[in-house]
Amino acid sequence: MIPGVRLVMLGRQGAGKGTQCVRMSRHFVVPHISTGDMLRAAVREGTELGKSAKTVIEAGSLVGDDIMVALVDERLRMDDARTRGYILDGFPRTVAQAQAHDKLAKARPLDVVIDLVVPRELVLERLTSRRVCRDCGANYTSTGIDRSPWVCDMCGGDVVQRADDTPDAINRRLDLYETQTQPLIDYYGGSGRLESVDGVGDPDVVFGRLTSAIERHR
Ligand code: ADP
Repeated sequence: MIPGVRLVMLGRQGAGKGTQCVRMSRHFVVPHISTGDMLRAAVREGTELGKSAKTVIEAGSLVGDDIMVALVDERLRMDDARTRGYILDGFPRTVAQAQAHDKLAKARPLDVVIDLVVPRELVLERLTSRRVCRDCGANYTSTGIDRSPWVCDMCGGDVVQRADDTPDAINRRLDLYETQTQPLIDYYGGSGRLESVDGVGDPDVVFGRLTSAIERHR
């Protein structure tokens, strides 16, 4: 049997994390756990969590650590994550979340943390033209003259602009990345679990860099 992996993906918004995580999740046969996707699903379903998270997400702010840790804890207890491992995308985003995750994953610690590096100037443009499938999360790029309605090639869902992909919310998220999430590089760097991977270039080449970095830790 192919061995699984327990992996955290860090990297700026718009660095191509989501798409690479979906591909790695197929490659390593482990679930892709995206906290952004989980929260957006809760907003769509109108759950209590969704109601309280909606305005926070649209403003580009961060949902509280306690709520996020409980959400991830519940997901990591499911069979697929316990047996095969997981790819965490969008979590942890603060040092407090990373500490909480280390505590709850004590029996099965992380194999590797990847920092997918793409400079801020490069991601800004990508985020403003980003469109996503509401159902499967596939990413597209708007040219300005888009099909309407725009239907996803993968699953037939609606392709839309995320409510938090407005210039204000994008800048706020990128600022928060620098102040809240970059400190995780030091947090994980100290334990020998961190791999920095250059995220600039052809997606297939970046995927190759990611899998080689992961193989070094499995
Ligand atoms: P992006 O990486 O493009 O900002 P995500 O899809 O990962 O977006 O997350 C969307 C929003 O969901 C975030 O801007 C934030 O409001 C909320 N969110 C997701 N994950 C977390 C987390 N670990 N901690 C706090 N808020 C989160």
